Amino acid sequence: MRDEARQLLRRAGFLTRRRKSGLFTLRVVSGWCIFFHRGCVLEQAGRMEGDRLRYKPTECALFPLEQNPRGEWFVRQKNYGREDWDLFCLDPASSARKASESLREELALAERWEASGMGSLPAEDL
Ligand code: SF4
Repeated sequence: MRDEARQLLRRAGFLTRRRKSGLFTLRVVSGWCIFFHRGCVLEQAGRMEGDRLRYKPTECALFPLEQNPRGEWFVRQKNYGREDWDLFCLDPASSARKASESLREELALAERWEASGMGSLPAEDL
C-alpha cells in the first residue's frame, strides 16, 4: 500500500461513514481508493493465493458486470445505458475479445453470487 494510505488505514480503518447504494464506501487517499497502489492491492494479495477476486469487495470484483433495477445482469460499456465513465476498458472497440471470454471469472462470480441466494446487488439507480 502507499505510505499515506497505510497510515490512514491504521488511524481510521478502510471504510468511511458514507454510504453509496446502501453500502459503506472505501476511503480515498489523494484521489485514489485506499487500496490502490499500482493496481488493486487486494487483487494482488488474492492473486498470490491463487484467486485474484478473493479479497476484493463484491462490486469491485464483479466490475464491469452490474445488475439493472430488475436484477438482470449487463456489461457496463461505452454508449450503453447511462454509462458515463470514459474508460478504455469499457469501450468494446478497444478489444476484439468477446466479453464472455475476457470476463469469464467475473461471470462465474456472478453465478456464484446468484446461487448463494444473496439477491441483487444494490443498484445505484434504485
Ligand atoms: S478494485 Fe476496488 S478495492 Fe481495489 S483499488 Fe479499485 S476500488 Fe479499491
